[in-house]
Amino acid sequence: MKPDANRLSLLEGVLGAVNLGAIVLDNASRVALWNRWMERHSRLAAADVVGRDFYAVFPELRAQRVASAVGQALHNNFPSLLSQTLNKSPFPLYADAAAAARGERMQQAVAVTPVTVEGAARHCLIQINDVSMAVGREKLLREQAMVLRSQTFSDGLTGIANRRHFDVAIDKEQRRAKRYGTALSLLMIDIDYFKPYNDHYGHQQGDQCLIQVAAALQGMLHRSADLLARYGGEEFAMILPDTDVQAALEMGEAVRQRAIEQRIPHASAGSEDKHITVSVGIATTNSGPDSLDVAGLIGAADRALYAAKRGGRNRVVAHTA
Ligand code: GH3
Ligand code: MG
Ligand code: MG
Repeated sequence: MKPDANRLSLLEGVLGAVNLGAIVLDNASRVALWNRWMERHSRLAAADVVGRDFYAVFPELRAQRVASAVGQALHNNFPSLLSQTLNKSPFPLYADAAAAARGERMQQAVAVTPVTVEGAARHCLIQINDVSMAVGREKLLREQAMVLRSQTFSDGLTGIANRRHFDVAIDKEQRRAKRYGTALSLLMIDIDYFKPYNDHYGHQQGDQCLIQVAAALQGMLHRSADLLARYGGEEFAMILPDTDVQAALEMGEAVRQRAIEQRIPHASAGSEDKHITVSVGIATTNSGPDSLDVAGLIGAADRALYAAKRGGRNRVVAHTA
């Protein structure tokens, strides 16, 4: 064999072995080369394709990004990388026969490059990479990150926001209230006689009680900035932006009622009504000179809650400056 023929057969071998689709088009957009990868994934043999118009082989590509990239390469000597976000699977290519039967295209990364051929008009090379695996892995990672993030900020028992979420949210809302001169209210909600409940019904039923109360209170919130969090064991915190004392008192009263409506039996409650009740402490901060910082707001709500407990429980008390 002559050295030239040797090199040519080596090149053909390489082109057949590479793990990507390679199509070469001549200046009139006729297929000049079609490698084995293309045969395998398009189910079209080179013998049936070479010499034919590219858009006769793939009519659906005629007015697409691939076509304009080919035009850019052939006529303006300009290379293109096709964006994955616009079209993930421009070519009807399939991983295998089963995927083809399902009509499930492989996801593709496509590059179109002008190729200068000695003694001939310019050609172009279309390279296609199967990126289904990479895309799948990326999606999985994204989903795992989302699950992790949601676990970091939600309480494992009740599913509502956890203490960490509360800390971030109260800080953000306090600064926002201060900046915009709006009112911000905080409700501390504590289940009454919960230790005796646990002692009487057992820890597992105590857990069920917490889940039910949390869900009932969560169902009361409709504004996206409102937040119910599990602040501690059987204590919940409700952050209500743009809410003044009066509106907060109404909400506190509604919370107290909602807990009673659950009709959760509590035989060993220290009150006459043998059902689960809650006490609520409220603090509100305004943008005025006596506005509270986060610690001040929480402390005030805590003291109000303590006053509600001392006053006999199953009641709502608002902090007064
Ligand atoms: P008060 O009416 O003054 O609020 O009295 P209390 O008994 O509710 O308050 P105390 O703080 O003495 O008891 C809280 C109890 O909550 C003690 C603890 O065992 C229970 N507790 C805290 N976290 C959990 C939990 O995740 N599950 C269950 N089942 N119980 C919990
Ligand atoms: Mg309690
Ligand atoms: Mg408590």
